[in-house]
Amino acid sequence: MADSTPTSQETLSNLLRETRSFPPPAELAAHANVKADVYETADADRLGFWEEQARRLQWDRPWDTVLDWNPPYAKWFVGGRLNASVNCVDRHVDAGLGDRVAIQWEGEPGDSRSITYADLKDQVSQAANALTELGVTKGDRVAIYMPMIPETVVAMLACARLGAVHMVVFGGFSVDALGQRLDDSQAKLVITADGGYRRGKPSALKPAVDEAVATRPTVENVLVVRRTGQDVEWTDRDVWWHEAVGSASTEHTPEAHDAEDPLYIMYTSGTTAKPKGILHTTGGYLTQASYTHWAVFDLKPETDVYWCAADIGWVTGHSYIVYGPLSNAATVVMYEGTPDTPHKGRFWEIIEKYKVTIAYMAPTAIRTFMKWGDQIPAEYDLSSLRVIGSVGEPINPEAYVWYRENIGGGRTPVVDTWWQTETGAIMVSPLPGVTAGKPGAAMRAVPGIVADVVDENGASVPNGEGGFIVIREPWPSMLRGIWGDDQRYKDTYWSRFEGLYFPGDGAKKDEDGDLWLLGRVDDVMLVSGHNISTTEVESALVSHEKVAEAAVVGATDKVTGQSIVGFVILRGGQEEVPEDLVKELRDHVGGSLGPIAKPARLLAVPELPKTRSGKIMRRLLRDIAENRDIGDTSTLTDASIMDVIAKQLPSTGKA
Ligand code: ATP
Ligand code: MG
Repeated sequence: MADSTPTSQETLSNLLRETRSFPPPAELAAHANVKADVYETADADRLGFWEEQARRLQWDRPWDTVLDWNPPYAKWFVGGRLNASVNCVDRHVDAGLGDRVAIQWEGEPGDSRSITYADLKDQVSQAANALTELGVTKGDRVAIYMPMIPETVVAMLACARLGAVHMVVFGGFSVDALGQRLDDSQAKLVITADGGYRRGKPSALKPAVDEAVATRPTVENVLVVRRTGQDVEWTDRDVWWHEAVGSASTEHTPEAHDAEDPLYIMYTSGTTAKPKGILHTTGGYLTQASYTHWAVFDLKPETDVYWCAADIGWVTGHSYIVYGPLSNAATVVMYEGTPDTPHKGRFWEIIEKYKVTIAYMAPTAIRTFMKWGDQIPAEYDLSSLRVIGSVGEPINPEAYVWYRENIGGGRTPVVDTWWQTETGAIMVSPLPGVTAGKPGAAMRAVPGIVADVVDENGASVPNGEGGFIVIREPWPSMLRGIWGDDQRYKDTYWSRFEGLYFPGDGAKKDEDGDLWLLGRVDDVMLVSGHNISTTEVESALVSHEKVAEAAVVGATDKVTGQSIVGFVILRGGQEEVPEDLVKELRDHVGGSLGPIAKPARLLAVPELPKTRSGKIMRRLLRDIAENRDIGDTSTLTDASIMDVIAKQLPSTGKA
């Protein structure tokens, strides 16, 4: 434990003991897309391995050079030309798969649409023609501010077809957040809808666009999908989708783009700082999104029904609703609304209804379902599931085991996938037919990726120790930069360790060399000379039966450097942590991690501040714990939650 091993100031303490492990089901392993030898093959000839994966795609012109690496700038598949939209749509129709359902969409009110690959080809072609009519050409930026409806996918693919750069903004973001992103990207067109359904009612989108574009003359047109039928203000700039796209020809001849032509800009969630406009290009991105989707989920496109519950306004939606699955000719379920509308079994109802075989969601959702209780999923037939995945935050071991048991019926492997907007695609994950998964561990870099954990000097740490996760070699779907801010690109990712990509997360290697992600290094707590991961303390708190969710931060403390302040959502919904429970929880954490990890203070809260993609924003909690003014909340789901949490403080007294 921490106290017995000397720990340098900058190395993460390795406190958690987790011994459970789940080998792959024999049947799945026997028919898995990738077998254990894949790692060796990829290591033996990494670039050759990625070339082989690139051949999964249809190229108009093959590449001359697989990788041009001029640190920190990479070019992949140099000289190659392809069209991402053709790869996601046309080629499947050409291969005789036109009748396969591409998007099985479920609206929140219960309306649904099945869109085949042939339908999708028509719609994407129509949209490409309509965008051209509106003056959109290669290289232009197009903002997409939409609900979760099929037109959102169509809009993205139409941009890709033309070589226009899409920039999707969460439909839940405010006028300001939208405006900032329009300024930064200088978008020429905004594609939006009158509204979408959320929590049982129409939620307007167009008014925010109206307000944002009123002062932004760079936006020439606003293309509006009619989804809810609610009233909208109308100006000369506005164009109805059903008129412009609906009347356009379904014939569109795509042009091939350079492998390194920009595909999209996606802003990071803003969990730690001001969002960064991450730039992704075409050939390498599509290669890795496609390969990882096939390998990590063991996708069998003929028979699987795949559902990723993320929003398209998040990178997960880009890589694992759109580009990965569609390039693999998968059938993708897409859901418009919230998990509790009209009832708390909605997700399980969708899995039962469409016989979903692969499901992918965030730990924040999983913890919410745990809080709602086992009896809810138990009412549905989830036996179609064969692989389930998690992404977005470290998954607490308790949440992993709950997910595996209650959703996966104790049969399905759980793939905990670590990656980021910047990496474009999955980087560290178990392979469901190969890996014996450990609850809470993302396990191992996917084939073709070279990840490591290093100490503060950039030296690889031995097994059993923690530090910083780094990527040692360039990878196909890596970001090509931060839009309009090259200095920030170099400073953020390439300045911490010479020649290594630093994602900003802490991690440890266990005794077997498997990787455990320990949260962001910005969040790491320094207590009496030990760096303690927020993830480990939170996981210990959540493993107590009375705690539904937890977030911990290090607050400045004269004696210990920092002391741990824990914010917990109690299962009973109490507004305060009773004295005896404070002791019980501190002892519980002490028992699982050692006395050093005991929170000094515990506050009960009704909710935790989260980004729209469901990540806990610890920096805001730290502001509260240290009595500071609260920082940028523009990416928060609900800013009013900060007032509610701040009010909890006086009643507990100062530490
Ligand atoms: P910003 O960089 O603006 O603060 P963000 O990091 O929240 O925003 P994303 O790119 O959406 O934006 O999130 C990536 C981060 O999410 C990773 O760096 C990591 O901290 C966390 N993460 C994602 N998946 C996992 C996982 N499976 N295990 C642990 N952490 C994860
Ligand atoms: Mg980040």
